[in-house]
Amino acid sequence: MRDFEFLTPTTASDASRMLADHGETARLLAGGTALLLVMRARLASPSHLVWLGEVPGLDRVALDARDGLTLGAMATHHAVETHAGIRAAYPMLAEMARRVANPHVRNAGTLGGNLCYGDPASDPPTCLLALDAEVRAVRGAQERAISLDGFFTDYYENALAPDEVLTEVRIPPMPPGAVGVYHRFTTTPAESRPLVGVGVVLVAGRDRVCRRARVAHHGRRRAVEHPRSGARPQARPQPEAALGVWCFSDRAGAPRRPAGEERREPERNVLNVREHRKRSRDEAGRDGSAMPATGGLLLTLSVPARASAVLRPRRRR
Ligand SMILES: Cc1cc2nc3c(=O)[nH]c(=O)nc-3n(C[C@H](O)[C@H](O)[C@H](O)COP(=O)(O)OP(=O)(O)OC[C@H]3O[C@@H](n4cnc5c(N)ncnc54)[C@H](O)[C@@H]3O)c2cc1C
Repeated sequence: MRDFEFLTPTTASDASRMLADHGETARLLAGGTALLLVMRARLASPSHLVWLGEVPGLDRVALDARDGLTLGAMATHHAVETHAGIRAAYPMLAEMARRVANPHVRNAGTLGGNLCYGDPASDPPTCLLALDAEVRAVRGAQERAISLDGFFTDYYENALAPDEVLTEVRIPPMPPGAVGVYHRFTTTPAESRPLVGVGVVLVAGRDRVCRRARVAHHGRRRAVEHPRSGARPQARPQPEAALGVWCFSDRAGAPRRPAGEERREPERNVLNVREHRKRSRDEAGRDGSAMPATGGLLLTLSVPARASAVLRPRRRR
């Protein structure tokens, strides 16, 4: 590993200025779980590492009924996983964080580092997209908000300028009647990165009819049927007009249809996990690779807006 200078800014603006001063060979360092591996493999040899660990407040977790959840960029996966307020208000987020990597990586790795590294096989981006999150970033004295929808631009690429520092992630409050789930599919047991991830937030009325759905997914092109899948996670906001094709039951039993509604078959599958699993199994048979592990959920997600979004518990194998 090449020698580097270790810089310790005490504000995000200072960190940004250091990046600007030292140009392309300076890199931000958060938990180091991704960057240090890259450096060890000599895929990057920064001259300066700008460590964010001395910036006060960058690891904050703030929960507010009106404003929702604010997570500092340096909040670790472990902090998200174990925060009592997050577990109560955003259980899908806490549960997602619990599945990331292993305890060592969760203790050191940060949410900001995960989003900025931009590995397409990651859990937080898809979960946060489903939750309609936005990020804040600082460049010198300037701050801006970026919707997560527009943050990921390609494999390992994002919308930040080279001297811009991601400071926080903001998630709006869950609407009344909302329920969310993030589910990941892996090719090998628990610790490996997700091959496919799906995040869904459904908002139901008191009649248990689904009023709004927001679906995000990521996955390899071969595994996910949607033509634009692959490099970056994507969210599909469903307009209010999409309402009422199905209501859902988060307990036992099949989804209930609203009175008077005819069943409408999905017009085009975005992601059909059953099909994906079947194919993976077929491919595993051919090339000997591992079969995807699955959890307890069957998802059928469809476009366009008036198609259905169904959540149904499924017996574990
Ligand atoms: C063994 C292993 C298993 C893993 N499994 C999973 C998994 O199952 N699911 C999953 O989602 N992830 C997984 N990961 C990835 C892990 O989540 C990331 O490595 C981690 O979150 C990165 O955070 P970090 O703080 O260590 O980032 P760093 O390594 O410090 O930084 C990563 C990149 O982001 C940039 N950066 C960091 N912070 C900022 C910021 N605030 N503003 C702008 N740029 C910034 C850095 O310059 C660097 O380029 C795994 C990693 C390992 C090593």
